Amino acid sequence: MLIREVQCRSLLSRSRLADYCINPYIGCQHACIYCYADSYTRRFTEHTEAWGEFVDVKINAPRVLEREVEIKPKGTVFLSSLTDPYQPLEEKYNLTRRLLEILLRHRYPISIQTKSVLVLRDLDLIKRFSDGEVGFTITTLNDEHRRFFEPSSSPVEDRLMALSKFRESGVKTYVFLGPILPHISDQDIDEFLREISRAGADYIYFDRLNLKPGLWVKLENRLKDNEPDLIEEWRRILSESTDYYKSLKARIFKTAGELGLNCIFCF
Ligand code: SF4
Repeated sequence: MLIREVQCRSLLSRSRLADYCINPYIGCQHACIYCYADSYTRRFTEHTEAWGEFVDVKINAPRVLEREVEIKPKGTVFLSSLTDPYQPLEEKYNLTRRLLEILLRHRYPISIQTKSVLVLRDLDLIKRFSDGEVGFTITTLNDEHRRFFEPSSSPVEDRLMALSKFRESGVKTYVFLGPILPHISDQDIDEFLREISRAGADYIYFDRLNLKPGLWVKLENRLKDNEPDLIEEWRRILSESTDYYKSLKARIFKTAGELGLNCIFCF
C-alpha cells in the first residue's frame, strides 16, 4: 500500500452532486471493484498501482479550505465524490474531521456519503450542523458479497447500526443503493428495504451499474475467479437493451411503497 502526503492547491470543487465536493484523499482503501473513481483518478495522477493500493493524503487540506471559505460563495458541500472521506486512513489523519470543523464554523450545509462506520467518531460534530445529512452506501445485505465487491469497507450490519445512531441523534440520513449489482443486490431486495426501513433512513436512492470506460475489463477480470456465472449475465444486462433494471425498479416501488420508504431513482 503506497501512502503519500501531498500538498493540494484547491479543495472546494464545483460538482453536479452538490454545489461543491471535497476529496481529502486521492485514491481509496475501500477498493470497491466497481468504483467509478478509479479510471477518473488515473486521468489526473500518475498512479499505476491497483485501485485500493495507493492513497495520496492532502495534508494541507484544512489550511486550503480555511482560505477558500473566505473567498468562494457559500454552498452545500458533498464529501466525497472520488474517495471515501472515512476510509481507514482517516483514523490517523483526521482530515475529514478538521474540514468539518471549518465548514461548521462557516455554516456550510454538508452531505456525507460513506461505507465506513468511522463516521460515528464525528457524530458530535455532525449533529451540530443545522443542515447536514449522512448517507451510507449499501449494495447488498450479504456480507460475503460485501467482502468481495467492497473489500475494506465496514460490514453491512455495522453500517445499518451507525445509520440508526445518526437517526436517533436527529441527523438526517439516507441510504444509497448504488450501483445496483445485477443478481447480487436484488437477491434480497425486499429484506434489504425492510432493513432500511427498520434503521429509519429518511430516504433511499438507487442507481444502476453504468459501464464507465475501462470498467468492464476490470469487472470481468475480478468476476472470473469468484463469480464466473455472473459474467455472461452482467454482459447481457449492461450492454444490451434488457428490461432487468425496469423490472427491478417496479419491484422496489411496490415494496418501498408498502413500507412507506421515500425513494429516489437515478435511472
Ligand atoms: S468507497 Fe467509494 S470511492 Fe472508495 S473505492 Fe468504494 S466506490 Fe470507490
